[in-house]
Amino acid sequence: MKGKALFALILSLVAALTVSFGETTGGEFKVENIAVYGENPSDANRVFYEIFVGSFSDSNGDGCGDLQGILRRLDYLNDGDPTSGLSLGVEGIWLTPIFASSSYHKYDVNDYYTIDPSFGTMEDLQALIDGCHQRGMLVILDLVFNHTGTGNAWFQNFLNAHVLHNTMNLYYDFYTWIPAQEQAPAGRTFHLVENAGLQYECNFSTGMPELNYDNPLVREKMLEVAQFYLNMGVDGFRFDAAKYIYYGDHAKTVSFWEWYIGELKAIKPELYTVAEVWDSDGITDKYETATNCFNFTASQNDGILASTAKGGNVNKLTAYVESYLNSIHAINPEAMNLMFLSNHDMDRAAGYLTVASGNAYTAASLYLLSPGSPYLYYGEEIGMRGSNGAATTDANRRLAMLWGDGDTVKDPTGTTYSPKKQTPYTLQDLLGQENSLYNHYKRLLMIRKANPEIARGEYHALTFPKTKVGGFTATWQGETVAVLHNTTKNPKTVDLQTATDIPFDLIAAVAGLGNAALEGTLLTLDGQTSVVLRCK
Ligand code: CA
Repeated sequence: MKGKALFALILSLVAALTVSFGETTGGEFKVENIAVYGENPSDANRVFYEIFVGSFSDSNGDGCGDLQGILRRLDYLNDGDPTSGLSLGVEGIWLTPIFASSSYHKYDVNDYYTIDPSFGTMEDLQALIDGCHQRGMLVILDLVFNHTGTGNAWFQNFLNAHVLHNTMNLYYDFYTWIPAQEQAPAGRTFHLVENAGLQYECNFSTGMPELNYDNPLVREKMLEVAQFYLNMGVDGFRFDAAKYIYYGDHAKTVSFWEWYIGELKAIKPELYTVAEVWDSDGITDKYETATNCFNFTASQNDGILASTAKGGNVNKLTAYVESYLNSIHAINPEAMNLMFLSNHDMDRAAGYLTVASGNAYTAASLYLLSPGSPYLYYGEEIGMRGSNGAATTDANRRLAMLWGDGDTVKDPTGTTYSPKKQTPYTLQDLLGQENSLYNHYKRLLMIRKANPEIARGEYHALTFPKTKVGGFTATWQGETVAVLHNTTKNPKTVDLQTATDIPFDLIAAVAGLGNAALEGTLLTLDGQTSVVLRCK
């Protein structure tokens, strides 16, 4: 990235480009002459792709996904040419933790300055950052700051300081601890270390001791970690377990994040951050003063995206989104909606939505044609499944990407998911199928790029009572588009003028299982189909 002048130039050059997608012509999926708008690297309204690093792509044949594996898959994610139509088109990647750790998932960090050897080297990370930037993608790293692994030198120094009763040791108060005999506070978990005469806090597991953020040294060390990676060029961070920094105290935790992210933005004003505050909107709202938060209300089997995708009333979803946007914007005008179906801690969406029913298509349309910055979990685009079921292992939710091209990446250890339950299709099977789920995802990302108002515009729900057809208008830079969805299995006709005065007269794009027709103000949408309307 070479500065704002260059971006402005690129912006003006690509603003007028027109694209046609030869490989997806014909049938109901035809989208032609999509104008591709230039992308501002500081524009956070982009689709991110979550990569569970150990399960994505293996470059050296040891079965473990790695950074070089991701590097060689960048053209799959985004080839940097918006006119090629040959890549998925995501605009950023979130890497799950990559630092030295003794677990397969790496959410217990032993050294924040070493890339786990099974994933590669610092040089590999630099190459990956550079490769992403060449393609206009952002890279965000997963920072696990609530706790470390017990193998971390900080934790060993902390224990030794207590064994030696050395209260002057800098690490004596590095973690949250209470004396061996003391009763733990209600609702919190502590673990006894007899020879050190203490119990350390570990609400996630005994292998994850919790850092003490009342200690200025901890704050200083954690600022240094983020600064180190910002200096390498990473664009931002996903903050793991962000609500637990001060267990049970949201106010104090929020002010920590305001301070921490404020310090980082002083260095990098366009910093992209997202916090994992896995809670209701009423709680996540509190954190919007400091950072964007994932929208957990929308996610999972019981979330509003899934219930709507399974034939539910779109008008309920759009009313929810409008009210959500109003509430976060009242707190922070820059706050964004970050919707997703599932992540590495959740059952995969294709398992409960199913591809065969078409519901997986509708769910993708609902959230990828939503405002803000949606997150796509790797493998979702090919209908991968994986759930805990009776087993209590999250590894089932993090299975090896099904490339179908000889990639040697293997499922993580501890996997118990029956291969019989998995989708029979690999990416290779789906690439050439015009109506495959993969091509649906690719199409949605193209549509999103071609209609930048969807991500960035002012949102107004368009309500069509008693129809289950619903949508919204989005206005940005003087242009307004309408996005409408029919989640039912049957064609529906609505009269646009019952919901809006804007004279939409152009079907800009159609996505889903059917087609759309506009005659005057009457819009007919086939079942499980979505449409983007513009004014000529
Ligand atoms: Ca490997």
